Amino acid sequence: MLRCPYCGWPEEEPVATVSVHPTPSGVTLWTRCACGSLQTRVLRGSRAIVTARSRPTKQAATA
Ligand SMILES: [Zn+2]
Repeated sequence: MLRCPYCGWPEEEPVATVSVHPTPSGVTLWTRCACGSLQTRVLRGSRAIVTARSRPTKQAATA
């Protein structure tokens, strides 16, 4: 199982979905990890693959 390199959170269990963007090539999701790192995911079938991620935020996520 893939885990966040910053906090070890399982990537298959996103803490919060920030936004969902249907595009011609598929659905792109933005999710936020437990450490505050923003993740860009692309839906592949029933799985959302993380394609990019930001560094964790300094402040605690209050979502
Ligand atoms: Zn994390």
